[in-house]
This record gives sequence, C-alpha cells and structure tokens, in this order.
Amino acid sequence: MEFKEVKIPEGDIIQFQDGKLVISDNPVIGVLRGDGIGIDITPVMKHVVESAVEKAYDGTRSISWCPLFAGLEGLQHYGSEFPEETVEAIRYLRIAIKGPFTTPIGEETHVCLHCAHQQYHAGTCDKCGKDDGVCERFRSINVNLRQHLDLFACVRPIRYFEGVPSPSKYADKVDFIIFRENTEDVYAGHDFEAGSDTALAIIDLVKEMTGRTIRPDSGIGVKPMSSTGTKQLARMALQWAVDHNLPSLTFVHKGNIMKFTEGSFAKWGYEVAADEFGEATVSEKALWDDLDGVMPEGKLLVKDRIADSIFQQIQTRPEEYSVLMAPNLNGDYLSDAAIALVGGLGLGPGANMSNEIGLFEATHGTAPKYTGMDKVNPGSLILSAVMMLEHMEWQEAADLIIKGMEQSIIDGHVTYDLARLMKKEGREDVTEVSCSGFGKSIVERM
Ligand code: NAD
Repeated sequence: MEFKEVKIPEGDIIQFQDGKLVISDNPVIGVLRGDGIGIDITPVMKHVVESAVEKAYDGTRSISWCPLFAGLEGLQHYGSEFPEETVEAIRYLRIAIKGPFTTPIGEETHVCLHCAHQQYHAGTCDKCGKDDGVCERFRSINVNLRQHLDLFACVRPIRYFEGVPSPSKYADKVDFIIFRENTEDVYAGHDFEAGSDTALAIIDLVKEMTGRTIRPDSGIGVKPMSSTGTKQLARMALQWAVDHNLPSLTFVHKGNIMKFTEGSFAKWGYEVAADEFGEATVSEKALWDDLDGVMPEGKLLVKDRIADSIFQQIQTRPEEYSVLMAPNLNGDYLSDAAIALVGGLGLGPGANMSNEIGLFEATHGTAPKYTGMDKVNPGSLILSAVMMLEHMEWQEAADLIIKGMEQSIIDGHVTYDLARLMKKEGREDVTEVSCSGFGKSIVERM
C-alpha cells in the first residue's frame, strides 16, 4: 500500500485470515504519539515493550514501530489534526497504540494542540504563545477514530496492584474486564439543540405518532442501540470469557426504565449466549430454575444487573464479577468508577477494538501542564501495551512487564502521583521517579 507521510518500516504486515490475526515474529505496529504528555509517555512505553520482548524471546521476536500522525503531529505532517491517511494506515496495520489527544469542549471555536487552551480565534495561542498548533474546533480524534474504523468495543481491564493506595476496602479483590459498546447510544452523536428544526420536528413526530408531549424548548438526543451493534459486542465479550476460562459474564443495563434500548441490550446479549455459546454457558435463570443453583464445572455463568445496582456491587462484592458488558453511556461511568476502586486513572489501560483492528490507548488525557517535563505516570499506556501483547498472544512479554511494574510499585519506585498518595498513607520508603525513571525501574525488575 502507498502512503504519503507514513513510512512503513521493515517487518511483516499483520494479516487477518479465517477470522484470526496472523502475526509473524517481526510485525509492524502503528504508534501515535498523542498530544501533550504523549511526548513523555510514548517513548517510555516503547522502551519497556522492546525490553520485555527482547528478554522474553532472546532476540527471536521484535516489533517494528510505524509512526502515524494525528493531533498536533497530524497538523505538522498533513495540515490536518485527523488525517485520512492515518485512519487508512491503522486499518492496514491492524494493530496500533496511541497516546492521548486533545479534545475540544463547549462553544470555543479553536483549540491549541500544544497546551489544550481553547479560544475563539485562529493564529497564535493566547495561553502558550505558540502558533503552529491552533486549529479550528474539531470533533474528538478519539471518537472519530472509533467511528471511522468501527471499533465497536471499548475494552478496559480493571485490576489491583499491591501497594497502590485505594479508597476501597476490597481493592485487592477487583479483577474484571469491562466491554463497553463504543459506537452507539450517546456516542452515535444524534443530539439536537433546543429550538432547532430537527428537535422541533422530532417533538412534532412523537406527538403525532404516540400522542405523547415533549416540552417545545427541549434539546433532543436520540439513543440508538441496535441488535447488530449489541450482538457483535456480546460475541467478543463472550469469546473473551470462554477463552480465559472466566466464571461469569454480566450484562449491565437500565432496562427497567428503557425497555427497547437498554432492555434489548441484555435480551440480545442472552440470545448470543444461548445461540452461539450454548454449550459453554449457563444463564442465571437456568441455574436456579433447572440446576438448583449448582453451577456445572467449567461453564460460564451469564447474568445481568441493572446499572445502578452494579455500581454498588463492584464496590461491595467485586469478586463476583469477571466480565462486564455495558452500553456506551453506562459503560463510560462504570469504567471510570471501576478504575477509581483500584487507585485511579494512572494505571488504567484500554483498547478500542473491532474483530480485525485493535487500537490500544492510554485512558487519561493530555495533562497539558505536565507536557515535556518527564514527570507523569506512563503506567496506563504501558499496561495498554500489555493488553496489546496479550492480543498478539505474546503472553511471556506481557507477563514480564506486569512483573516489573508490580515489583516497582511494591518497592516504592513510582512517579509523583503514586508517590504522593503512598506517602500520604504513611509509607516512608517511597522513591519518586520520573516518567522515564519509572520505565527503567520496570525494566530492571522484569
Ligand atoms: P487529563 O487526564 O489530561 O488530566 C487531568 C489531571 O490528571 C492532570 O492535571 C494530572 O494531574 C492528572 N494526570 C493525567 N494523566 C496523568 C498521568 N499519566 N500521570 C500522572 N498524572 C496524570 O484530563 P483533562 O485535563 O480533563 O484533559 C486534558 C485534555 O485531554 C483535554 O483536551 C481532554 O479532552 C483530553 N483527553 C483525552 C483523552 C484521550 O485521548 N483518550 C482522555 C481524556 C481527556
């Protein structure tokens, strides 16, 4: 494939055959540095991954990184913060990892990709004084990537690392993975301003078709949730649970209030479990109706919980959950609440996936005030790289990174964010290290 700015390095392009990735010992993997602190954390992640792969496979395997450009780098290379070529390159390479990107908020019309300042005019940034990064208001690069590549699953593993201060008494029992729907529900973006032609037309249509009234000065959001979108996510989550021999999978929904969106989400999920994973699964209803509550050995229990109750359950009985599948909005809240249970975003990895493409990412933002200071915690991006290695079935390298990170935290060699929390908890043997220092500390402990 021909690209203008993307230089494909030596190595093998990952293939997708018979529904499976085919990955050689020297695959080409895309890497998007990200805006803000992407400049600090991305090189550290690469160093840690390269060291783990070298150590695990004695030089018989290696990754060829292929730089891809979006955000500030997109502007520099293409004059666009969301270049089409970058999307095509991710599609071509099938696996990529990315730092965070600046996202505009509110009504401002321009955003500076250096410092994330938002203002009403182009040209020089009023805050940092730089003039090569101010671009017109654009939709989120993250959302755009998900939608253009149809990355329908946002996957977030949540686990505890010994020694990380946590607000939860049961933090050490937290070990589950969230599959959140990534393209429908509120992310479909059908949101219409109060008084707009579309909002007024929908209000009229609802009145005409159902007799129900909506206040005329209402903003209107449309919340589509399809059988297709839900079932493809359910298939991925169920397959994950079965492949990893996990005890349960839970559909999270608000079907008691929204029967035909949230309620159908659970119904369609159960249908996939019964129709396509019938041999491997038992529903909670069947467990009590037919099996006297005795779970057959080796089978996956499929259950559902109302969204508000799951927020209590993950705090009070986290050990009862291993895979959670949630619609977009509830999954958004749930992912952030869950990561707080184990000590916060600094160590929360994530990925956006379709059956063919995996885009792994830091889950925090660009933290502009720390850009270029070699200070922030690269843990989220490094753990996302662990997910990436597991996705490639390079488990040995993934395990080495986890081992190095666990030990570094136990030894108290951590970045400022964790150091501050650990000291507050009374630990005296904490050594605050830089962003790159944390990477080195992980590598030394692999
Ligand atoms: P943020 O996550 O960038 O920063 C909030 C605070 O969290 C920071 O000031 C810092 O104290 C801390 N923090 C964040 N990452 C850290 C790390 N790796 N190590 C240590 N501390 C860390 O959130 P924000 O300030 O709300 O957003 C800044 C920009 O990032 C915005 O433009 C936002 O839209 C964008 N953003 C992008 C993503 C993404 O690309 N996935 C996610 C969230 C926010």
